[in-house]
Amino acid sequence: MINLDYIYKKNVDIKDFCTFKIGGKVRHLFIVHSTQTLLNVCFYCKIHNIKYKIVGLASNLLFPKRYNGAIIVNRSHSFMFRKNHLYLDSGITLSNVINMCLNKGLSGLENLSAIPSTIGGAVVNNTGAFSCEIKDIIDYVEVYDRRTFKKKRLYNSDCNFSYRDSIFKSNDYIITRIKLNLTPMPKNMIKEKILSIIDKKVSTQPMDYPSAGSIFKRGKLLPAKIIDELGLKGIRYNDAQISNKHAGFIINLKNACSDDVMHLVKLINNIVYKIYKMKFKLEIELVK
Ligand SMILES: Cc1cc2nc3c(=O)[nH]c(=O)nc-3n(C[C@H](O)[C@H](O)[C@H](O)COP(=O)(O)OP(=O)(O)OC[C@H]3O[C@@H](n4cnc5c(N)ncnc54)[C@H](O)[C@@H]3O)c2cc1C
Repeated sequence: MINLDYIYKKNVDIKDFCTFKIGGKVRHLFIVHSTQTLLNVCFYCKIHNIKYKIVGLASNLLFPKRYNGAIIVNRSHSFMFRKNHLYLDSGITLSNVINMCLNKGLSGLENLSAIPSTIGGAVVNNTGAFSCEIKDIIDYVEVYDRRTFKKKRLYNSDCNFSYRDSIFKSNDYIITRIKLNLTPMPKNMIKEKILSIIDKKVSTQPMDYPSAGSIFKRGKLLPAKIIDELGLKGIRYNDAQISNKHAGFIINLKNACSDDVMHLVKLINNIVYKIYKMKFKLEIELVK
């Protein structure tokens, strides 16, 4: 029987599935279109002892030259509005959710406009921008434990959200469903907010090149400001380059690989260490 709910490919170039456009062959690739199939494929990998990683838009990830496991691309997409609440699958993209909320006259996510993300990925990273984080509107997150495959509901305070961090970084859970709390607002006001955020992002970030967003987390020092002050903008190693437009981004000019990106990361951190006696922490995740 053909199951149209997922697509399976073998030995696929993962660079075609991530925003950095970097990475070599992945042994198994599944694209799943429902939560049930997401769970089935995860369970299949578990019982066959196949290492697996769920991804959304793979927009925060740097893939290696080879990944000997399964990448599960989550495209689950069911949702339901009830009053000021939105219940949704983890594979829906932020841009779709923002549009759906705009159509309903519900506010809450506008500051996250133009961030390439699924809701699941945003929950894991507690994605944020312009003084707003996804945690601000999360009521609860439904997950399955990766070992027992038992369902669990984690309320906001159980999720240990902090700056670009959450309990889900432990990799113990499959995120399946999320409840968001939204606020009614006139549609024209929501639209104005969205357009102004998109405008800010497009004018300050290198959206025209593949990247994984900010390379480093903010700490006591602001990485983009320091990298800029150190005159490192535009420095290139093979096809990886510190963006001229935003010093916090490393972009892929064409054929960069993970080693090229990491070469620049080390270069920046060595210089920063000499001057500030500290190193920046990565915001992007290295897939192993
Ligand atoms: C141009 C650009 C701009 C960006 N701007 C910002 C910004 O302003 N603010 C910001 O915070 N980030 C930003 N980012 C980074 C990135 O977009 C966010 O971190 C985003 O939320 C990641 O979502 P994703 O769906 O792509 O997750 P992925 O990168 O696919 O995955 C992230 C992590 O979540 C895990 N994961 C994903 N889905 C699930 C699931 N269902 N269950 C369990 N684990 C899961 C993955 O295994 C991985 O560990 C930017 C990136 C780019 C390329």
